Amino acid sequence: MSNSYFDLTGKVAIVTGANTGIGQGIAVALAEAGADIALVGRTDANETAEKIHAVGRKAELIRADLSTTEPCENIVSTAQDALGGLDILVNNAGIIRRNDALDFTEDDWDSVMDTNLKSLFFLSQAAAKVMVENGGGKIINIASMLTFQGGIRVASYTASKSGVGGLTKLLANEWAARGINVNAIAPGYIATNNTAALQADEQRNAEILGRIPASRWGDPDDLGGAAVFLSSDAANYVHGHILAVDGGWLAR
Ligand code: NAP
Repeated sequence: MSNSYFDLTGKVAIVTGANTGIGQGIAVALAEAGADIALVGRTDANETAEKIHAVGRKAELIRADLSTTEPCENIVSTAQDALGGLDILVNNAGIIRRNDALDFTEDDWDSVMDTNLKSLFFLSQAAAKVMVENGGGKIINIASMLTFQGGIRVASYTASKSGVGGLTKLLANEWAARGINVNAIAPGYIATNNTAALQADEQRNAEILGRIPASRWGDPDDLGGAAVFLSSDAANYVHGHILAVDGGWLAR
């Protein structure tokens, strides 16, 4: 297969939660493959923008809080106006709340579901309306090991990421014939702010490392190749797939 299958030159991508962690890793990887990137988040992604400019691509900062669906349509129109189109959406922004199921609060339920699932759906809807008009596009949702497994003390996170898996397949079913590929990446244990508490917990850290066949935490850069693949022509016949990038965790 020629490298041109993975070439994103001339493409425009939106990446949510792009100031840090997995979102930053994916945004930079897409830019290295040739795409211009709209960096969406409640914190400006200046560091990510610098890395994108360093590889000669454009970066547009879009300040938006995805704890509600209110900014979704504006994100899509701003990205289009600033960068001249929309080909790729990466729904990466996400949060986690930890507590025993017996003590889990409604606020910890709603905040995680609203950000991780509800905004993901309505931003995808806004983007898909444009992609349908333009003849197609790629949507990549960031799922989790807890799309497949139950986890512990993270009730709303498990519910939201299991929902992301279901929605990825539903949207693929509805939009494949409209030229839109909807797929997901399920990261394993990746060293970011999201997992800082786990990394700091000596016992849990040792348990996690002992179960990962690759014997290390993943790095945000480990997700870049999967994101480029699912954004590219190489994935034109890939629909509704949830690609684990997990150091072998699910195979164990
Ligand atoms: P992270 O470093 O905490 O990054 C989360 C990103 O989401 C940040 O940019 C954050 O912005 C943004 N975000 C959170 N709430 C938002 C809101 N209301 N509006 C806009 N942006 C918001 O964590 P990460 O590990 O890179 O997580 C990225 C995605 O990967 C999440 O969906 C997470 O569930 C998923 N994931 C992570 C792992 C892992 O092991 N790390 C594994 C599986 C799945 P701020 O910086 O402003 O908070």
